[in-house]
Amino acid sequence: MLNPSVLPYTIDSNNSIQHKPLLISIWRGFCSLNDHCKKGIPGLKGYPQFQKDCRSVEYKTLGWKLADDRKSITFTDKKGIGRLKLKGTRDLHFYQINQIKRVRLVKRADGVYVQFCIDVDRCENIEPTGNTVGLDVGLKEYYTDSDGIRIENPKFLRVGEKLLKRSQRRVSRKVKGSNNRGKARLVLGKRHLKISRQRKDHAVKLARCVVQSNDLIAYEDLRIKNMVKNHCLAKSINDASWYQFRVWVEYFGKVFKRVTVAVNPQYTSLECSRCGEVVKKTLSTRTHVCLCGCVMDRDENAARIILSRGLGTVGHIGTSALDVGNACGDETSTQER
Ligand SMILES: [Zn+2]
Repeated sequence: MLNPSVLPYTIDSNNSIQHKPLLISIWRGFCSLNDHCKKGIPGLKGYPQFQKDCRSVEYKTLGWKLADDRKSITFTDKKGIGRLKLKGTRDLHFYQINQIKRVRLVKRADGVYVQFCIDVDRCENIEPTGNTVGLDVGLKEYYTDSDGIRIENPKFLRVGEKLLKRSQRRVSRKVKGSNNRGKARLVLGKRHLKISRQRKDHAVKLARCVVQSNDLIAYEDLRIKNMVKNHCLAKSINDASWYQFRVWVEYFGKVFKRVTVAVNPQYTSLECSRCGEVVKKTLSTRTHVCLCGCVMDRDENAARIILSRGLGTVGHIGTSALDVGNACGDETSTQER
């Protein structure tokens, strides 16, 4: 079987790129169709269908032209898109045209968006704080930090989850291909969009705050690939928002010149943060109790482990006096004998 990651982009004569994820999804569709036929799995068979609301087209530096007042954009690749009026609050006058490296047209549930990919180095100097922090993600809390401070899950996540489930049920009850199903799908799409925007907003604000108030931020290296396999809605929403939060922490880490460390997530909830002993506990044990006398909230203990692993990873950077071979300073004397 061909690996979908080796599929090339399709680039047509006008320099527009059909988005790769789309190709991969088509490929997967064919693969599963093939598999199902071979194995004789009953059910719907047929050509894979496009998701109706995740279309996007990407342009590089050709095929589009911004108007002089930068209030509209014209697509010149004869695909019939033509001139689009630009609404929104971002001022494009702020950037030079040659700083725009890519232009992407994205269709969302509530309209078509033009994304401009701009090449700028964003850097801000702020004073060191003297603080370091470790973050432990949970299902109940957004995260618990190594000082024992809990950040609750925002309310919109809980409310949004209920609404999503309801609209999803509404879609599944309607007859496939009917007008009513179309309408219900539109509502579902808009709900998803609203929640994902709220989630992003929350992640950006929280990430900026954490990065600005700490010199080093350590967190678990959780991979989205391993996380999306679960079918529990609450958890998958949580996973997605945590991953987004991490991406923003790393972004602000670069902007504010802070150290961000993703540490190995193994046994973070079992190890004792004071003596390093492994203390077995089940998922329902909320308190960490160790023979060394350490009694602490389970998540706070994990966050401390994450912080110490983070600090251990960073180590020494630059030239090292130890490498010269004079590990013990007292053997070298600056005095003349
Ligand atoms: Zn201990």
